[in-house]
Amino acid sequence: MPDIAEILRLESLQVHFPIQSGLFDRVLGRPAGAVRAVDGIDLNIRRGEIVALVGESGSGKTTVGRVISKLAQPTAGRLLFEGRDMTSVQGLSALRPYRHRVQMIFQDAYQVLNPRHTVFDIVAEPLRSLRLVKNGEQLVERVSEALASAGLNPPSDFLSRFPHELSGGQRQRVVIAGALAARPDLIVADEPVSMLDVSIRAQILQVLVDLRDKYNVALLFITHDLPLAWLIADRIAVLYLGKLVEIGSADEITFNPRHPYTVALRNATPQIGSNPGRAELPELQGEVPSAARVPKGCRFHTRCPLAFDRCKAEEPPSIAIEVGPQHLSACWLAK
Ligand code: SF4
Repeated sequence: MPDIAEILRLESLQVHFPIQSGLFDRVLGRPAGAVRAVDGIDLNIRRGEIVALVGESGSGKTTVGRVISKLAQPTAGRLLFEGRDMTSVQGLSALRPYRHRVQMIFQDAYQVLNPRHTVFDIVAEPLRSLRLVKNGEQLVERVSEALASAGLNPPSDFLSRFPHELSGGQRQRVVIAGALAARPDLIVADEPVSMLDVSIRAQILQVLVDLRDKYNVALLFITHDLPLAWLIADRIAVLYLGKLVEIGSADEITFNPRHPYTVALRNATPQIGSNPGRAELPELQGEVPSAARVPKGCRFHTRCPLAFDRCKAEEPPSIAIEVGPQHLSACWLAK
């Protein structure tokens, strides 16, 4: 029986970018390599659910968001929206209904907002391009509604302003209003508060939670920050070098992490309290390897303080080892 509450499903999703081989490689007959940005991800999101995708820079989390937003094409695997396979759907008109339902919030409001456009034009753009309104009156109504939902009140004070006339927090609210205007069912928010002052972050997170509560919008919240993920998400999925290594409820992942990588992330964030059961785990070794040179065996073994022989030879199946209710890990030790 298909899960009717499920809005999005990723099945064995892969995004590999080919590397051009150099002259010497061609002469020596060495095969061209690939950057394995996303290397086989299975993930689902239900209506009204907030799922945080957590990982360091280079983990592939932004690429996952871009695939869901149809800004990047997967190399393999499937993207299902309400059970419909959207993987190969391309082209402006074929994608119009999908873009209406799935919107993206980007990290850097400075880059996203056209400095020559007013707030009205920016928020109205998706409504115009997706042809979601019948006349000018409806357009003003929908733009004002989106600005109010994003916390820009009264909306009439903001309609004719330009981005440079707004604070950082107000600019990010305009970006959120632009995503909201189309009344989507799923929003992909890529590090939406990382460029903001700490004092503004809580307000923006509250706007996102209110949207979920009011409109039952699902949210994929992409972040490198585990405490932020815990604050906002129902579930947390941890990504390392293109693969999910742990997934579970926000509380389970934060307070009972079972994969050594999640434990290391957790131990690096003392602001959410101590973690006595795992405090003895030594610090991570080295840096994240390049996605062009993913280690054999468990891809985390080059940094894992608990690695043993099997880890170097055999990769644990991706988030298939059950360590608690709805809590899965990809570590041979997580039993
Ligand atoms: Fe560490 Fe081995 Fe577990 Fe990988 S499988 S996380 S290397 S203990």
